[in-house]
Amino acid sequence: MSWRSRSTARDGDRRFTAPRRIVVRVTTVLVVEDDPAISGPLSRALQREGYGVLPVASGVAAVSYCADPGAEVGLVILDLGLPDLDGLEVCRRIRAFGREIPVLMLTARTDEADFVVGLDAGADDYVAKPFRMAELLARVRALLRRRVPALMDIGGVRVDAAARRVEVDGVEVALANKEFELLRVMMSRAGQVVTREEILAEVWNDPSMKTSKTLDMHMSWLRRKLAGARPAADAAEGGSVGAPGPGAATGTDQRISTVRGVGFRFETD
Ligand code: CA
Repeated sequence: MSWRSRSTARDGDRRFTAPRRIVVRVTTVLVVEDDPAISGPLSRALQREGYGVLPVASGVAAVSYCADPGAEVGLVILDLGLPDLDGLEVCRRIRAFGREIPVLMLTARTDEADFVVGLDAGADDYVAKPFRMAELLARVRALLRRRVPALMDIGGVRVDAAARRVEVDGVEVALANKEFELLRVMMSRAGQVVTREEILAEVWNDPSMKTSKTLDMHMSWLRRKLAGARPAADAAEGGSVGAPGPGAATGTDQRISTVRGVGFRFETD
């Protein structure tokens, strides 16, 4: 694991190889809106849902941020009426970089919406002002869900979203609806920490369930089902002694790690 080896860097090297602890990649939403009466409450609502928020008030700022290939933007909420570049132009320029970030357009009037979509500048959805916050947040979740690939195959776990089928090492596993969604969210960000808030927002549409045990229960069921499909070697008594044999690989429940106090991570190896 690279973060572990880096953490052993001597003090003198630290400025080059900063020791990294747990890296939490929350989905960052770029909010492009020049009206603080809208961007303020919108940013706060997104933060409450567990997203990282980057508010900018101009089209140029939005374009230059997206031009950086290292900038991790999960979604753009883009006002159509901006003081410099209009939202459509911003959208076209973001697309011109070849970036497939979902773009949710905010329009001032409902009749602008058809115009926006008709122009095919690359916006994925729109919400007309004034909007209900719950409605906008639902659209955000829907766009982020759409981004998840239809077919994923990581570490022997194969998920076919269209057919709603899951196979572990070639053996089909029957998952309940929430277990399936949970696995899909975890695998779509394999190798990264997915926070509890993000999981609750994406799978249950309700981050207020934060303190409930629902997520932990479903996670435990999911792990058990993934484990059940593994070769029998894992179930052997005293199997934890010594290195796991070939085929037993990294074991069972270890596929999805718990990152204490933060969330979970689907391991890629
Ligand atoms: Ca505006």
